[in-house]
Amino acid sequence: MSASVEIAPVPRGIAGLPVLRERGQREVFCGLTGIMWLHRKIQDAFFLVVGSRTCAHLMQSAAGVMIFAEPRFATAILEETDLAGLADAHEEIDRVVTRLLARRPEIRTLFLVGSCPSEVIKLDLSRAAVRLTQSHGPGVRFVSYSGSGIETTFTQGEDACLAALLAAGTPAPADSPASLLVVGSLPDPVEDAFRRTFDALGIPVAFFPPRRSWDLPQIGPSTSYLLAQPFLGDTGAALDRLGATRLGAPFPFGVEGTRAWLGAAAAAFAVAPEHLEATVAPAERRTRAALGKIRGALEGKRIFFFPDSQLEIPLARFLHRELGMELLEVGTPYLQREHLAAELALLPSTVTLSEGQDVDKQLDRCRAAKPDLAVCGLGLANPLEVEGITTKWSIELVFTPIHGYEYAADLANLFVRPLLRRARLKV
Ligand code: SF4
Repeated sequence: MSASVEIAPVPRGIAGLPVLRERGQREVFCGLTGIMWLHRKIQDAFFLVVGSRTCAHLMQSAAGVMIFAEPRFATAILEETDLAGLADAHEEIDRVVTRLLARRPEIRTLFLVGSCPSEVIKLDLSRAAVRLTQSHGPGVRFVSYSGSGIETTFTQGEDACLAALLAAGTPAPADSPASLLVVGSLPDPVEDAFRRTFDALGIPVAFFPPRRSWDLPQIGPSTSYLLAQPFLGDTGAALDRLGATRLGAPFPFGVEGTRAWLGAAAAAFAVAPEHLEATVAPAERRTRAALGKIRGALEGKRIFFFPDSQLEIPLARFLHRELGMELLEVGTPYLQREHLAAELALLPSTVTLSEGQDVDKQLDRCRAAKPDLAVCGLGLANPLEVEGITTKWSIELVFTPIHGYEYAADLANLFVRPLLRRARLKV
């Protein structure tokens, strides 16, 4: 596959860091992967992938690490014969959905998730969602989005899902009081910890996506929102269109990011700085002490990020500023410049930022840089390990609680573990 490389200055006001843009062969999971954490978060939803056997295999192998009695996702495999006639394909979807709802009456929202095969792309799943809504009555909502590897990488599946779910909500009445919306799927214990903090600060808060799919927040000009994840470009744009205001801040990783993120909400809701300080000081003290114990294992170590989860830039900032790691290249599949402006301003001028991927060239750069640790997808980890480069699987970062004060030390330890493993192998 051909690729072009250009050095493009980032827009004015964003730290002036140059960005290496690459368009070539990529090694990234598709957006179907997001179903693995979204089905756990939205507890009355079901994800029906309309796809091929490849999609079914991905879902099975990605889910293989989990144990559950009744999975809340499945793949409707549409073979080529099914797809010869689009009418047949629609009938097949209707049959699968009817069977599913008869067996699982507790499903309140059914996501129809599109995939790659050209025959599936030709199916209009949004039309199918409207048709199914008409035929199955008001008790269940149908929402469609694409998790196709052509359109989405890894975490963009969540972005597509959340943007589609927003469209099912209702606008906030004009006279609704100001409220805060935290946007991005977070493990329940992380969400609970943030809720306690916002309650203590006196800020009325809701989280999106909700645990129950029909508890959708009403959104309008009285809504301010904080992104909890850096990969929510479409969701942010949809919220902006609904009149909500994004509070710009670094993401809540580590003490610095969490403080600035909470601080943005505190400023927007006129919380006195002393009240913010008193509320977060004990957690900050504990976290600083915990990170202090870990710092020695990471300080001075050189890290290289392959583009995968879009968490790379905030994590690099945390590892550099709070744990003393040296940043070599920080790659991201897409650089959401606006959403990451506060993060980019905190990166050192020595870092190489890259957007997109030409995997062979990037592997060459990684080999030449000889990092102590490379963060990458599963597909690159084994070859790099064989070459003697220690790796960390980026997919773990989206399955593990890592946000906020309470989980900052766990996040740091995720990067310590592979270094210790390599050190033990050497011994
Ligand atoms: Fe593969 Fe596309 Fe299915 Fe993802 S959506 S598993 S990339 S065929």
